Amino acid sequence: MAEKRDYYEVLGVAKNATPEEIKKAYRTLGKKYHPDANPGDKQAEEKFKEVGEAYAVLSDPDKRRQYDQFGHQAFENGMGGAGGGFDFSSMDFSDLFGDLFGGIFGGGGGSSRRSSSGPMKGQNAYASVRITFDEAMKGTTREIEINYKDECETCHGTGAKPGTQPETCSKCGGEGQVAYTQKTLFGISRSIQVCPDCRGTGKIIREKCSSCYGTGYVAKKKKIEVNIPAGIDDGQSIRVSNMGDPGTKGGARGDLLVEIRVSDHPSFQRDGMDIYCRAPMSFAKAVLGGEIKIPTIDGDVLYQIKPGTASETTIRFKGKGVPSVRNKNVRGDQYVTLEVQIPDKLTEEQKELLRKFDESYSGPDPKPEGKKKRFFK
Ligand SMILES: [Zn+2]
Ligand SMILES: [Zn+2]
Repeated sequence: MAEKRDYYEVLGVAKNATPEEIKKAYRTLGKKYHPDANPGDKQAEEKFKEVGEAYAVLSDPDKRRQYDQFGHQAFENGMGGAGGGFDFSSMDFSDLFGDLFGGIFGGGGGSSRRSSSGPMKGQNAYASVRITFDEAMKGTTREIEINYKDECETCHGTGAKPGTQPETCSKCGGEGQVAYTQKTLFGISRSIQVCPDCRGTGKIIREKCSSCYGTGYVAKKKKIEVNIPAGIDDGQSIRVSNMGDPGTKGGARGDLLVEIRVSDHPSFQRDGMDIYCRAPMSFAKAVLGGEIKIPTIDGDVLYQIKPGTASETTIRFKGKGVPSVRNKNVRGDQYVTLEVQIPDKLTEEQKELLRKFDESYSGPDPKPEGKKKRFFK
């Protein structure tokens, strides 16, 4: 397969395009490449798919965030490491487009109408995991237990009691949806809704399977390992392909989205890819200079303070920040604010030494309204 084009490029929109701009681009390009408008044109068909795929991702805030962060990788070789990826082949594009173009092309032709009889991808499942700040910096793996739905063995997924069969829903004739027409001020409006009797399944179960209570599925506890990449931030999700709910009529499974919660660190604070912290230095070291130990996520580093360093001076450790989830070796910076510790418990001897220092100090007296900082400069 040819290399995948950037989704923003496919739609011809900027990275910061608004949802409206994305929708507009999608409408324009979708119309241009729609198979109905280009019968038998393979290239147009490919473009049409490409546009649909780009739109499917960029129109979904969740997926767009993942894409912005991880690129195509977000949907290809699973950050979660379960292989597989975003399965577009199972997406019902006719549905996606039917919604937008149904009124433009071929007025109500059966082909673009959504039908519950085709394969449908299963629902996504969701889980959440809490990790420490350090784990987020280094990357980690977590075993989590999920409710993994499987076809019920008793009824083989039909949901009907063994020996009975689900009946075709009479309200929708098995279509799973019903059309309503309504007279309005502007004429007749037609809307299609999920059938209320069968809730879109097209089937009515008279006698429910007792093993699965008519759902057709049984949930089993399943343990899976989730790979959490270094650099992950609080609130980001990892997609584990094919661990969601089973699809229907041979459709692919949904995915599992694992939201990562990162606990606060007692001294480090994260902002994007940078880390902020404060480090104490003694009064004497601030004045005379000296070495202090400063914590980083890689361990303590020795830092040489210059003589006469003011309190609240901020220093930068380049490349000691958060690693990029895409590439561990790309890292942000760490900013350390040095803070002079004023001793409040001194022995008589120490006090005497300070008094002597004060008497011998020939610099200007601090002015009453002057800031404390002046003294240390
Ligand atoms: Zn069952
Ligand atoms: Zn129905």
